[in-house]
Amino acid sequence: MRRVISARTRQTVFGGSKMRPEVWAAMREANAAQVDMNELHAKAGARIAGMTQNEAAYVTSGSAAGLVLCAAACITGRNPALMDRLPFTDGLKNEIVIHRFQRNHYDINIRQAGARLVEIGSHRQTHPWELEEAIGEKTAGIFYFPGRYAGGNILKLETIIEIAHEKNVPVVVDAAAQLPPSSNLWRYTREMGADAAIFSGGKSIGGPQNTGIILGRKEIVEACAMMGSPRYSVGRPMKAGRDDIVGLLCALDHYLDGGETDQYAHNERWCEFYMERMSGMKGLSPRVRRPNSLGQDLPEVVIEIDPETLGKSRDAIVDALWACEVRVQVGISGESEIFLSPDPLTDADAEYLWARLVEVVS
Ligand SMILES: *Cc1c(COP(=O)(O)O)cnc(C)c1O
Repeated sequence: MRRVISARTRQTVFGGSKMRPEVWAAMREANAAQVDMNELHAKAGARIAGMTQNEAAYVTSGSAAGLVLCAAACITGRNPALMDRLPFTDGLKNEIVIHRFQRNHYDINIRQAGARLVEIGSHRQTHPWELEEAIGEKTAGIFYFPGRYAGGNILKLETIIEIAHEKNVPVVVDAAAQLPPSSNLWRYTREMGADAAIFSGGKSIGGPQNTGIILGRKEIVEACAMMGSPRYSVGRPMKAGRDDIVGLLCALDHYLDGGETDQYAHNERWCEFYMERMSGMKGLSPRVRRPNSLGQDLPEVVIEIDPETLGKSRDAIVDALWACEVRVQVGISGESEIFLSPDPLTDADAEYLWARLVEVVS
């Protein structure tokens, strides 16, 4: 296999993020001891809840697992007899409301718990009465995706929460990639009132790639924990090991204590570097985009390619970068643009990428 340098944000498909040496060390140390996993989950959950100003937290194997568990928790509450029936949900509250505009490749993980999706709105517009009308006796919860899945044509999260809570229906926010800002760890739940929010451990937090956090109200988080490993229910195959849990804790600790500041500085510095180097280069028209393509509060450089001047199409450039000794993956947007997010790159990666890009376009 060839190594990949990806400037397409911290995408799971290219391995997410790289872990810091302290995280590795914490994981090695945790692995050296056996512990009661229920106790570790409880202690780590309490620590993470404290660090993120939430009532409760549970560590799972990623945000996709968080979606399965939160959907299941909305359906069963803390009733073990109902948990035991999943994924068969006939006769239970099993409907999850979602904007039609927000349907995406992760909603299979909501349905995996046995939920049926009820769509509201259209591509163009959503009215509050559509949500009010969609909520009925069978409604288990409402799921919302901020960042790149949000758009002007969906209801504001504030409106969703207000309508949902009038009818005693929980709201779950899949904020997997919505860091920075780190304040999102408490904004959706503590400040806005969503019942649970889900974050990936292997994206901006820089923890193990197979981790994720469910944050929020005690009732929902406890139900998730009751269905997650090491217990026996729909979440059992979504196991976070003791080293994963400790690695995530260590990474989160670092992220909230200077890691986020470094992340901003790194992204800003490399965007400036790319912008400066490209000024005056024929055939490349760069600009800075912020928020980035994932909706994160980070800059990335979008480059409009002029194929006439360069004698090469955008796609030919993308292919040539991918064919390099160490493969380079850049983002693509529109018909003629590539984008570079410095976020997943080390300084050495960022320099290698620039050298290859110069070779490919000259
Ligand atoms: C990345 C992502 C996921 C999946 O996260 P994993 O931690 O890889 O399981 C789910 N939802 C959204 C919106 C994401 O961006």
